[in-house]
Amino acid sequence: MFRTTRVSTVLAVLTALLLTACGKEGSPPVKGPVPERLPHYAVAENFQLPDSPTWTRARKRGYLVVGVKEDQPYLGERDPATGTYSGFDIEVAKMTAASLGFDPSTIRFRTIASANRETALQNGQIDYYVGTYTINDNRKKLVGFAGPYYLAGQSLLVRADDKDIHGPHDLDGKRVCSAAGSTPYQRIKTDYPKAVLVAYDTYSVCVDNLLTYQVDAVTTDDAILIGYAAKAPGELKVVGRPFSQEPYGIGVPHGDNALRLAIDDALEARERNGDWKKAYEATLGLSGVPAPTPPPIDRYQAGT
Ligand code: GLU
Repeated sequence: MFRTTRVSTVLAVLTALLLTACGKEGSPPVKGPVPERLPHYAVAENFQLPDSPTWTRARKRGYLVVGVKEDQPYLGERDPATGTYSGFDIEVAKMTAASLGFDPSTIRFRTIASANRETALQNGQIDYYVGTYTINDNRKKLVGFAGPYYLAGQSLLVRADDKDIHGPHDLDGKRVCSAAGSTPYQRIKTDYPKAVLVAYDTYSVCVDNLLTYQVDAVTTDDAILIGYAAKAPGELKVVGRPFSQEPYGIGVPHGDNALRLAIDDALEARERNGDWKKAYEATLGLSGVPAPTPPPIDRYQAGT
């Protein structure tokens, strides 16, 4: 009797240790998006958009090519084993594709880093882009933006045992990592010039550098950082309050106003019929933040 109890206790302890070890080794997050829980988006029938050169080209080709991120948990993540993309941005790409008359399962996703988004849209590598892409006036000179479909804010990610960094004012002399070509990188450069900026193509490389003590903080949108923190429980934490507004838009080729406005209509319809909220809850919402009210769509005048 005594023996059996001892053996089962030892087994339980071993199992617990094994489970902890698996989690630490970067096995899939317990709370990642579950494919069966993702919404199905009704595909618009007989949809036409002849005024859009991008849509017309995609229709002839037979499928859409959408630029995304592949290393941003809950937002845009690619499973290296299957090549499947998942996350809130991926769902936004699928729901808008369905409204444009394209079956979401036929989308070809292409990973494009922050610094390469404008050129990818300009040279026709992608039809549109959905990947934590902040709408701003500088970028509007180069590309068009549908949306916004979500409002994020710049924040800071540090190691869990860090006691010095609570906000951007604590960054003087600290090594701060962000993605080249991003708005958070630019904001640190102009507003906090005493920080020692380090740039990589992607935030996941910044996070690796944080975990190995090469940098002291990673900065980008809270929505992105929360995902990395959730993937390394006990090792990383998001600190302070967001110190910017990052309205996420869908990037379209500059001048293709027909496509931009059609995607605006699509977003509005998907917000109204509940698809946006369902998509949020099945992806980004898994990080623990309840679904916010999406920001109002901005159908801005072309040329502004
Ligand atoms: N939203 C910011 C941006 O568009 C940061 C995230 C990103 O680099 O995608 O620059």
